Amino acid sequence: LDTNLYSKESHAMVDFIADYYRHIEQYPVRSQVKPGYLSKLLPDTPPIFSEPIDTILEDIKKDIIPGLTHWQSPNFYAYFQANASTAGFLGEMLCSGFNVVGFSWISSPAATELESIVMDWMAKMMKLPSMFLFSGGQGGGGVLHGSTCEAVVCTLAAARDKALSKIGHDSITKLVVYASDQTHFTVQKASKIIGIPTSNFRALPTCSSSDYALTADTVRKAMESDMAQGLVPLYLCATVGTTAVGAVDPLFELGQLAQEYDVWLHVDSAYAGSSAICPEFRHYFDGVELADSISMNPHKWFLTNMDCCCLWIKNPNLLVDSLSTNPEILRNKASDAKVVVDYKDWQVALSRRFRAIKLWLVIRRYGVANLMEHIRSDVALAEHFERMVTLDDRFEVVVPRKFSLVCFRLKPKFEACEEANYSELNRQLLEDINNSGRAFMTHAVVSGTFMIRFAIGTTLTKKRHVDETWKLIQSKATDLLNRKYK
Ligand code: PLP
Repeated sequence: LDTNLYSKESHAMVDFIADYYRHIEQYPVRSQVKPGYLSKLLPDTPPIFSEPIDTILEDIKKDIIPGLTHWQSPNFYAYFQANASTAGFLGEMLCSGFNVVGFSWISSPAATELESIVMDWMAKMMKLPSMFLFSGGQGGGGVLHGSTCEAVVCTLAAARDKALSKIGHDSITKLVVYASDQTHFTVQKASKIIGIPTSNFRALPTCSSSDYALTADTVRKAMESDMAQGLVPLYLCATVGTTAVGAVDPLFELGQLAQEYDVWLHVDSAYAGSSAICPEFRHYFDGVELADSISMNPHKWFLTNMDCCCLWIKNPNLLVDSLSTNPEILRNKASDAKVVVDYKDWQVALSRRFRAIKLWLVIRRYGVANLMEHIRSDVALAEHFERMVTLDDRFEVVVPRKFSLVCFRLKPKFEACEEANYSELNRQLLEDINNSGRAFMTHAVVSGTFMIRFAIGTTLTKKRHVDETWKLIQSKATDLLNRKYK
């Protein structure tokens, strides 16, 4: 590594990225390329000799950028946002620049200790109960993973091993995992990975009358029915801010039930967890004290560039019991003395990134007050958008909004259009909007209703973008209705 070149080319790269952001509104938000476009443009063999960075950057402009869907565009309203910010980027540079691998304390003490500190900071901001904090003195603590999927796999493995140590290791086929039909598929995937039979995963029904939240009554009935057949309830995932519609499961009721049935309760708040730092949203997390673990993704809505998922657990020893291995090659005094955290035992992989420095930088550069403002301004924009939708009587808001996600659909009230046609109509409207390249949204189908999801949260989105996008939606709707019904 030549430090002069490192500095020169890193500066060139930063300027290139800054320029990308300057021009980001010019690009079609959803990439318009066709499958296989890139292999037509790139050579099919790697270069034998080194190429200059300028040439590579030119190719990135010419060949790669057209194939990007611009997640950082202010007109990106699809899925859930992946927040990028200056501090998040700088933190990522540090993480990648130091490139230390803090799998055990000794392998990079600052990486481990900063992670434990920043996890306590985050927990304090979210007003999580002290039993999830290292400093809470009750054995709890937190870890940074790359994704919620990894966090769920690890907690499920811990729950599984705890249960099997009681009922016998041959009983894995009896264990049952509970979630709702709105729970992210990550839980089903994780159940498969840790060896729960596919037939023992319950996606319990939700309905519009409970705003798509899972009710304790539904879970109780399912558990009773399973137990009557000799099965053993193992794990329940509750969500604060579901992916499709932003629903909130009642943590307190589900927590009481989980305790009654001795079931591990995990709270997935991948998207909405960030909102807990604002007092006005914290009530959605009431009852979290009854959970065994909770996770949220700062890489969604907390100005932290990919990747970063916080997982807190009341009893991390259960994670360690399940995931630890102690090969001779990694032995060291601090680990042997059990006076340190070795994060390799809190995750799937051995190697790990120094994500803590990124999250720490984000929190320090913005401060809690600005981070709260970031959440509030997105929610205010969503309220504004929702108001505009309700004022146009051709549209309706399908699910009551809680955070910065608005689920709506075109529902013109004239006779020619019947319920059965609405899905097709909205599918077409969404396609027309996305094909325009001027905005990108995605859809959900809940209880048979096709809806358009308008997820606000990209760092660059301002009121003018929301206003312009609403005009775009209205004009595409007018065109579509004229085409279809006139
Ligand atoms: N859980 C919820 C509620 C989500 O909305 C998402 C992604 O949108 C996930 C989990 C998946 O997160 P990850 O990609 O970090 O595994």
